[in-house]
Amino acid sequence: MAVSEILTRFGEVSADPLGYARAWKARSGQPVIGSFPMNFPSEMAHAAGALPVIIQESDDPITVGHGLLFPFYCGFTRSAVDQAGKGDLAVLDAIMFGDHCVQLLGAADAVRVALPETRVIFFQLISSMCDPWTFGRAKESFEKLRSELEDFLGRPVEDEAMRASIRLFNRNRALIRQLYQMRVDGRASLTASQMQSVVKSSMVMDRREHTDLLEALLAAIPHEPAARDSRAIRLHLSGHFCQAPKPELLDMIEGCGAVVVGDDLYHGFRFISTDVPEEGDPMDGLARWYMDRNTGVPCPTRVQNDVDWDAFLIDAMRRQSAEGMIVLMAKFCEPHMYYYPEVKEAFERAEMPHLLIETEHESMALEHIRTRVESFLELVKRRRGVARPSVRSMEGEAA
Ligand code: SF4
Repeated sequence: MAVSEILTRFGEVSADPLGYARAWKARSGQPVIGSFPMNFPSEMAHAAGALPVIIQESDDPITVGHGLLFPFYCGFTRSAVDQAGKGDLAVLDAIMFGDHCVQLLGAADAVRVALPETRVIFFQLISSMCDPWTFGRAKESFEKLRSELEDFLGRPVEDEAMRASIRLFNRNRALIRQLYQMRVDGRASLTASQMQSVVKSSMVMDRREHTDLLEALLAAIPHEPAARDSRAIRLHLSGHFCQAPKPELLDMIEGCGAVVVGDDLYHGFRFISTDVPEEGDPMDGLARWYMDRNTGVPCPTRVQNDVDWDAFLIDAMRRQSAEGMIVLMAKFCEPHMYYYPEVKEAFERAEMPHLLIETEHESMALEHIRTRVESFLELVKRRRGVARPSVRSMEGEAA
């Protein structure tokens, strides 16, 4: 398959994840297990013979969801509940919920009401990451999830099947990381939105099918320096946890003369950063993975005294030679809102420029955002080869 065909396929699945799930279910006759971001180990549902699908924000405006969830909940939770209310999530035989923020808890209850026929499996993961008991409690939580899944499907999830799924998922992540690195190095010519569709489709597609397509993509893509404008501003994108930033926003940022050389987005490096250990007890491996992810790319929904998100961001930017950072904050995302002041302070201390853009589910005033992005990039450009100005951050809302 040609590079363009594979990228088109990833783009199609990203644009219509539930359509893919429906077609897969009709083809295979097997169950589809949805999960909420960001900590559910999809390997487990895969090992049980189901299709694990991470629920995605839909582009549709919220309608019935207004009656099910508060308007001051984040766009992702409102969209997910709206999809449940409209019956779109009925393709999911079960939905796994983790408890990583208060709004997700509210969404779990609303989905229970909207989809009484769908099994809702709730699991609680310890959010304090550096206590002596964290590893054991994380393992316990995953074991409980496994037994609930077995109860729902009426069949065991064997250790050997878990190991095979872990190997496949690790392979998938490794291939995406390879592509990601080629893009960062300028060896693969992919836009930020194309890279997002590679990651987002991996959250939805049958992993074997996705991995085969990735292998074909890596074999076909030219491994040579891309024609990248050396004047483009090298940017790091940070934020957006549960939902993918809209592709038009990414395209607009790059269209303003920037190139995204790194990110910690959930639909980006955060999702592919960490593999599950392949040797030993798979449940130990999943607990290890859960803990390692927060060390690799810290998440503000977890609490860990010995890792800092702001320090991670500054280090990552230095490694990537990023000249500025754009923070994409989903409106009403409490964990992000609580943590952002620390990031802002740290960036001001380090004299690193950053721009905060608050995003909304429905109304994205792209022209207004474009003006702010252009001004920010101009500010960053002026820093090249001159003494650093005293003001380093720009704040405000996108819409
Ligand atoms: S972490 Fe943020 S984006 Fe995710 S569900 Fe909670 S509030 Fe929404």
